[in-house]
Amino acid sequence: MISQSNPPADAAERRAIQPVICYPNDTLPPADLALYRAARATATKTDEILVPARDARCFTVPAGHFFRISSVEGPQVGDLNLWNTGDLTERFYSGKTRALHGTHITTGERMWSSFPHLRPMTTIIEDTLGWYGMDAFGGSVHDVIGTRCDPYTGNLLAAGTQYHYCCHSNLTRALADHMGVPLAEAEPLVHDVLNVFMCTGFTRDTGQYFMKASPVRPGDYLEFFAEINVTGGLSACPGGDCSSEHTSDVASCHPLLVEVFAPAEGALGNWQSPGENGYDRSHGR
Ligand SMILES: [Zn+2]
Repeated sequence: MISQSNPPADAAERRAIQPVICYPNDTLPPADLALYRAARATATKTDEILVPARDARCFTVPAGHFFRISSVEGPQVGDLNLWNTGDLTERFYSGKTRALHGTHITTGERMWSSFPHLRPMTTIIEDTLGWYGMDAFGGSVHDVIGTRCDPYTGNLLAAGTQYHYCCHSNLTRALADHMGVPLAEAEPLVHDVLNVFMCTGFTRDTGQYFMKASPVRPGDYLEFFAEINVTGGLSACPGGDCSSEHTSDVASCHPLLVEVFAPAEGALGNWQSPGENGYDRSHGR
């Protein structure tokens, strides 16, 4: 952002106005973390998917089940898409999740779905990188500010580039294979991601999106409770730990592990999967 205009006489006064939180989130339906964690303690593993480096895989998680994304072998970030298994047009809404929870999400926070549904798709129940907080550069982990690396932006910034293993393409191939449809049918369903393990922020002086080497190490994980039936798509980003560049094969990359767990019978008590958003959709007519 470059400003060319001359400041008015009361510029300092205007800048000194205190900010107001756009969406105070203390009236959001609360997540019963204690219940989820207790159910997870007796849950049993039902599936395991190893996402190869510079590639993606899809997986399904029934409502009330859990999934864990782990770093294995070496530091690696992942780009996560989520869809409602029964209706793939209901998908993760990165922008609204950011508006509700902030630029990065961690334990107790949710991944919200697109309009007209706007309901929690998952709740984060464990984050071994929760200790990281916000660093001196304004960087933090697991952002909902990035989009997903893609070959179109790569082509725009470096004319002529045809790189095929960006997260956007990886997710497109994985979803096409999962659904058994052509790439052209899967591609429009790919959306902005949760950047799992990625360490990012905005520079204070220019407001530019930055990334830095992820603090993730093998054994670290992020664990989710599925609030509705979800299909996940996870890409092991060609940026590796995102310490240098992406949209190329330069960075050293590692696989990511996804594990799915089923709760024991009755472990969730009276928990119910959240219904559709309560807005009546009449839009003033
Ligand atoms: Zn990526």
